[in-house]
Amino acid sequence: MGLTGGIGSGKSAAAACFRDLGINVVDADWAARVVVEPGQPALAGIAEHFGADVLRDTGALDRARLRALIFDNPAERAWLEGLLHPLIREEIVRALDASESAYAILESPLLIESGQTALVDRVCVMDLPEALQLQRASARDGNDPEQIRKIMAAQLSREARLEKADDVLDNSGELTDLKSQVETLHQHYLQLAG
Ligand code: ADP
Repeated sequence: MGLTGGIGSGKSAAAACFRDLGINVVDADWAARVVVEPGQPALAGIAEHFGADVLRDTGALDRARLRALIFDNPAERAWLEGLLHPLIREEIVRALDASESAYAILESPLLIESGQTALVDRVCVMDLPEALQLQRASARDGNDPEQIRKIMAAQLSREARLEKADDVLDNSGELTDLKSQVETLHQHYLQLAG
């Protein structure tokens, strides 16, 4: 099952509820980090393409530097995505295959945008008013709301996401409310998986 939503929508909070129920959660952001760890072929490819300047002294990827290099450069961004997306996908598939719970969750901010929906049977969307999302994301990151607003503008709109949803978790209420919705959905998913 895929779990998605915009920045600060409560994906991590919902994922924690699923984990509490014994369900294995694969985090797409984790997979994206794993494939560029030192020793992974992707990192050598990136260093060869962009120059050794994208590496820190430790040999790890300098993400800020890489982001700056592809910012406003669609060709370089496309090159990077062409390299990384298949590798991230492989990593996700490996982790999902290794899961031993009744079903598994793929938590991904870009589940719909990146075509990762092909890896899951159902799409569950975190839903809440955008003003509340902005408020929670800003509070969590200590970021200025304008920065969060920009990220939100680059992501799918609330409506576009809901259009792709098989299931919806309404996260406009308290965390306890979210938890009970997850428990209900969990029963449904157990039935579907069983
Ligand atoms: P995401 O993983 O989608 O970016 P998070 O799960 O990190 O979002 O939630 C964003 C912030 O909002 C976190 O600080 C989280 O603790 C808080 N939060 C999430 N859901 C609720 C809720 N129902 N009530 C209050 N705070 C919440």
